[in-house]
Parts: sequence; structure tokens; C-alpha cells
Amino acid sequence: MDAAQIRNDLMTAGFTLDVERERLMVSPASRLTKVQRELIRENRTSLVELLTQAANDTSPARSRWLITLLDGTRWSISRTPPSTLAELQAEYPGARIEPEALCTAAPAPVSRYLDTDRRQCSDCSELARDGACQAARRGALRQTSRSYAPDPETLHRCPAYLPGPADPDRRPGRERWPNLARRFLVTDANRGKAA
Ligand code: SF4
Repeated sequence: MDAAQIRNDLMTAGFTLDVERERLMVSPASRLTKVQRELIRENRTSLVELLTQAANDTSPARSRWLITLLDGTRWSISRTPPSTLAELQAEYPGARIEPEALCTAAPAPVSRYLDTDRRQCSDCSELARDGACQAARRGALRQTSRSYAPDPETLHRCPAYLPGPADPDRRPGRERWPNLARRFLVTDANRGKAA
């Protein structure tokens, strides 16, 4: 796992990362698991570099980007918290990286989301433009192939669900379905354990 992924995972888990006088500060430190502490220790130098670079980067951070590799492979990504261009350039060296154009289609009516339980993959920010599930691609979904391309229209419960911009309920899947998350979501804390 690289520094950007570690930083993103920690921030998504509610931690704040900062660099003060070239020292890496993570808070609240008391909540860090043993695995997280180990990861931070092993990647301290690259985390400091990444955070320093991000602090000096004046380009705006965005949630949605389009990545195009040299071979023409193209997909969209969604970032929580948002990433800057410099951060993504460090992650995808040589790739063309551009902000994803805002969708101009009419938003889905709110009634579309009145089934407060299940969601479609097409509602989820983790669904890439090429149809692949980015959570699966990262290895965040246990028992799921990294090349998983779900049916976008099937209603289901997914612990890696990240609400898209039109979903009025902003809770991610791990909060909506904690039992599923315990069994199927791969986190630093449970990495390597059986489901
Ligand atoms: S994270 Fe879950 S809901 Fe989102 S695209 Fe992947 S499989 Fe679908």
C-alpha cells in the first residue's frame, strides 16, 4: 500500500494528518490500531513528503477525476477526501489526469431514493466509468474479484457503498450495514482475517 492510499484510508476513518516541523502528526492518535501504527511507521518518510507536497499545492482538491493511461485505458475515480492534481500525478505517473466534467443530466427525483435500505451501484461513487467497482479494485471487498464489474441497476446492500452526489442519505455502506461491513469490508484492522 502506498502513502497516498494509507493517507486516504486514515482520513476516511476519521483521522487528521498533518506535518509540523517535519514531524508527522496523526490525531486522534489514541484511536490508531496496532496495524495502522505499523503502517505509519513503515511509511513515515513518504507520508511526510506527500503531506508536505499537498500543503504546497495550490490547485483545488476535487472528488472526481478522469485518469487516462499511456495505453489509452481511461476510467473515472472518486476521492473522499478530495485529491489535488499533484497528489494524483504522484499516484499515476505519466497518466493524463483531468477533472471529471460535472454531469449535466437532470438529477434523479428524490423519490428514487425512498427505498432507504438498498442502493444501486449506479448510485455509488465507487462505480468507475468503465463499469468496474473501484472498492473491489482496491481489494476492499472480501471474496470479490479485483476486476468485479457489477450490474449497475440491481438494488443491493454493499458495505463499500459511497453515496453519489444525488443520494440525499450521505451515510456510507459501512454505517448503513455494519454487520455486512464486519463480514465483507477489508480494513487495516481486519486485513488477513477470515470472513
Ligand atoms: S462499492 Fe458496492 S455499491 Fe459501490 S460500485 Fe462497488 S459493488 Fe457497487
